[in-house]
Amino acid sequence: MIKVLEKNVADKIAAGEVIERPISIVKELVENAVDAGADSIVVEIKNGGKSYIRVTDNGCGIPCEEAETAFLRHATSKIETAMDLNSIETLGFRGEALASVAAVTRTELITKTTDNKTGTRLVIHGGMVIANEQTGCPDGTTIVVTDLFYNTPARLKFMKTDSAESGLVIDFVSQMALAYKNIKFRLINNGRILFSTLGDGNRLNTILRVYSDVDARNMVPLDFREGGLYAEGYISTPAFSKTTRSSQIYFVNGRVVSSKVIERGVSDGYKERLFEGRYPVVYLFLQVDPHTIDVNIHPNKREVRFDEEALIINFISRAIKKSLSTKDAVVDAGNIFKDMDRRISPSKVYERVFEPFREKTEEYACEKTDEKQVDIKQLLSTIKNPVSSPFPEPIGEPVLDIYRPQLKPFDFSELQVTGVIFDTYITAVDGHNFYLIDQHAAHERIFYERLVGEYESAVKERQPLLMPLIINLSLAVSENRFDWLDALSKMGFTIEEFGPGTFRITEIPMFMEMSEAEDFINEFIENINNSTDLSNRIVIDKLIMMSCKAAVKANDKLNSEEINALIKDLSCCVNPFSCPHGRPTFIKLTRYEIEKMFKRV
Ligand code: ADP
Ligand code: MG
Repeated sequence: MIKVLEKNVADKIAAGEVIERPISIVKELVENAVDAGADSIVVEIKNGGKSYIRVTDNGCGIPCEEAETAFLRHATSKIETAMDLNSIETLGFRGEALASVAAVTRTELITKTTDNKTGTRLVIHGGMVIANEQTGCPDGTTIVVTDLFYNTPARLKFMKTDSAESGLVIDFVSQMALAYKNIKFRLINNGRILFSTLGDGNRLNTILRVYSDVDARNMVPLDFREGGLYAEGYISTPAFSKTTRSSQIYFVNGRVVSSKVIERGVSDGYKERLFEGRYPVVYLFLQVDPHTIDVNIHPNKREVRFDEEALIINFISRAIKKSLSTKDAVVDAGNIFKDMDRRISPSKVYERVFEPFREKTEEYACEKTDEKQVDIKQLLSTIKNPVSSPFPEPIGEPVLDIYRPQLKPFDFSELQVTGVIFDTYITAVDGHNFYLIDQHAAHERIFYERLVGEYESAVKERQPLLMPLIINLSLAVSENRFDWLDALSKMGFTIEEFGPGTFRITEIPMFMEMSEAEDFINEFIENINNSTDLSNRIVIDKLIMMSCKAAVKANDKLNSEEINALIKDLSCCVNPFSCPHGRPTFIKLTRYEIEKMFKRV
């Protein structure tokens, strides 16, 4: 017999589609709070959210006569007609969330608008209204959700452990706090404050409060605009990296996304600055014209597709390179010896860090809040128009941001060489920093960029050798000669076959010394095997990179003229701060750090 399902059965089934696990509830409630214009949101969970979820906001509240309506399926204040679907600016609009939450939990709503004198308390168990009464409460909304799936026990077994569920919630709230830097977020897990942000619009402050494993001294600002694209955020200097990509968070137009294209741009930007297998920390906020992307809205993961992928990769890569070429990005000796593997992802922080240091953390959080609030008040009194919109900033003119960092490029002309130590490290200073420059790494970088430049340039600058160099090769290698002869000749070598397996080098690139040329060629050829594809540019770059190492010798004693020439050559490099293998060429100690070491400050 065909029967229409009873309302509460139908609701439970529909709820199953929206509410899969605690994070689904937290997400809906937090998004509602943002949509309500709140500038302060507290999220509290217990047992990973399975037994208790509370979201409190100071937003617009729900008028008492509408409280029950809000829990009806397809009840929403955010769209009125289907036409509105095209111009949605809020996070939610389907009007399903509250109905779904209430169907599979015990839900309590306490809410008040500024216009209402008293607030409303509404209790719903498994979709049934248990109480609807007046109550005294502050403006805004609190929703407490307990006993998830108590009336659909079959769903309970699909849930993971408490810590896995709380991990999802922590990651989500962390990302929301980052995206909405003007909203104060506080996250409480099993009675402990995991973090509270200030909602002061300061991106770095927000990052540091949310991700306690990030050290400000290792982060440099990124701020780059071109065409219709804008990127901002913070990225780690090459001194600090991780073994996975888990500390890279990307936002596109205010929403967290995953994107291989953005990953590519980031990797490109850090190319040669990090050892292989290391990943930088990246908090990247990208603003693009919404018409140039396609967002696949899967509830838990947003895949974004860009119309012009190459353009985005190039843009991000250049944005990162620009940030990494600032003075701030030079590897800081003060940080370099830190134990980096101690650092862990935010969802793990609770178990591994907050637990043992609970009191300390809370104290710290409160202290900092007060101290910062004073600051903010002072600032606000001098600045008329602070950023306050809870919504992602629109494209177009940059929003006034009182904290926007200055990206000052590293200026080689300020460098003053003071000497050399151990015949290996050049010492130098500028106004505020002391530098050690690894002569060998610098030389490798220069050598590498020159060779690659030569390879790419149409006109080769060669120097003839009075006495040609003779090299003998195995027949296997010499049989492949057309490829590698071609590659070497593109770099500025002139090589002729002289007999079976014997070649004569009559010209070498202008900038090379004879011994360098010989070592380079031997190493280059040695690294080639049968499967090496010499028509592939990336392979050529790798070969050049490996061979530079052999060509450039350490511990050469340089005179002051040679040192100045080296620094000048280094300043002409595209990427002067690391050798081709990712080791730093520069290490910096700030004046402050030095003074601290001598206990002067
Ligand atoms: P949607 O968000 O898709 O509109 P929901 O079921 O999440 O649907 O919420 C239904 C309605 O309840 C919202 O449209 C809004 O009017 C109201 N509402 C929900 N949460 C809040 C809140 N925290 N503050 C103010 N109003 C809220
Ligand atoms: Mg909603």
